[in-house]
Amino acid sequence: PHIVAPVPVEEIALSTGILKIQPLPDVCENIEGILLPDKEKSCGVIFFNDKRPIGRQRFSIGHELGHFLIPSHAGEQRECSSVDLSRYDGNEESEANEFAKRLLLPEHLLLPELKDKVLDITLLNQLADLFQMSFEATANAVIPLSNEAVAIVFIKDRKVRYNWRNFRHFKHKLKVNKNDDLPESYQVFALKQNSTSDFVELAVHDWLNVNMGLQSTYSLHGQTFVQENGFSTILLKITSPS
Ligand SMILES: [Zn+2]
Repeated sequence: PHIVAPVPVEEIALSTGILKIQPLPDVCENIEGILLPDKEKSCGVIFFNDKRPIGRQRFSIGHELGHFLIPSHAGEQRECSSVDLSRYDGNEESEANEFAKRLLLPEHLLLPELKDKVLDITLLNQLADLFQMSFEATANAVIPLSNEAVAIVFIKDRKVRYNWRNFRHFKHKLKVNKNDDLPESYQVFALKQNSTSDFVELAVHDWLNVNMGLQSTYSLHGQTFVQENGFSTILLKITSPS
């Protein structure tokens, strides 16, 4: 069938042998999703944590569906935590995450949305709404697909959580890595919650590992999105002289 965003994850799951998709009972506070399949994985039931934002709920369902459909995953009960849902290190949890990401934010639906558009925080938020996914999951899926030299830095309380870049166009390694403080020169945190700055020019040597001699050949701009609870995100963009 022809699928448009938002990807109908429950409908898809129900067409593959999943009999029921329902909210977890209150007792399971730190569990995001549970899969109860039979041994042959001919049928199964998915539970998800409905206390989470809609994007996370959809990701949890996609993740459990991954365990159900990936042939090498045994037909056994899975209880998946938020740690499991953020793993990308090659085990079964990370395979289920990769499955969910490709199902819910598929390249063939994202690429047309990026065509002829300039990537910025507003576009990322629009795509998150369109695909009914979190801003973070959406940004992570979009960054590698962009035709611009973009990178993204996820922050909590002025410390870097992690960064991610478009390896095709953004060739330089970032200087701001996990648990690093942000450069002192960076001062746009006066923004209020849920607001976005303009792109401002940043000091290249504060953010990128580059040779001193190369710094004058291009410029670096950053746009900041201040979210809730101390979370914020910086979208970085390298522009070369034309
Ligand atoms: Zn899992």
